[in-house]
Amino acid sequence: MSISENLKHIKSQLGEGVTLVAVSKYSTNEEIQEAYDAGYRDFGENKAQDLEVKKDKLPNDIRWHFIGHLQRNKAKYITDFIHLVHAVDSFKLLREINKQAKKSNRTIPCLLQMHIAAEDTKFGMDESEIENLIADPKLTELQNVKVVGLMGMATNTDDSAKVNSEFKQLKNLFEKLKAATLPGNVNMEKLSMGMSQDYEIALENGSTMVRVGTAVFKS
Ligand SMILES: *Cc1c(COP(=O)(O)O)cnc(C)c1O
Repeated sequence: MSISENLKHIKSQLGEGVTLVAVSKYSTNEEIQEAYDAGYRDFGENKAQDLEVKKDKLPNDIRWHFIGHLQRNKAKYITDFIHLVHAVDSFKLLREINKQAKKSNRTIPCLLQMHIAAEDTKFGMDESEIENLIADPKLTELQNVKVVGLMGMATNTDDSAKVNSEFKQLKNLFEKLKAATLPGNVNMEKLSMGMSQDYEIALENGSTMVRVGTAVFKS
């Protein structure tokens, strides 16, 4: 199928208010343009310096999502323009994004990444680290970032029951935080979970944002 057919097919599975982030990290600019011409505006990338170069060759109304692990010293490459940072895994990173965002006179929406997979290779915080970050009184000093939700990656496995329980864990924390009294720059609106092989399970568990690459561009 073509890119636009893939997009249409995935989009048809999404409920009201669920965003499809087309993950373009393995794609050419021509392929991104094809998705853009089909009406898509949300694209996800995971290499800060590459993205800084890439975005200038593509339409400037694209909403760029940073979906991967962001090293602190790379934040400066994307803070001018990034739409949403999906995978914040430490207070230090949030502080650096805030510092760079201030220089650009922006407030950058960020998601906190929870480590839900069985694999150690995946990044993210556990439940208590996320709660501690949100409870940190220094968080309210970061006026140029806004925590708008959570993100997670499930284990790469065919065991859908396992994936299901990992997404459930993330959804439970999301709901728990949503019900809590939160600082002014924290608001639980977005739950980013689901990739090509598991977005259907993520949707069943209340995902509001799926990040799909292979199933859009390479199938
Ligand atoms: C690459 C990537 C995706 C998309 O993966 P696909 O399997 O190609 O859909 C989603 N989220 C993150 C964090 C990624 O790095």
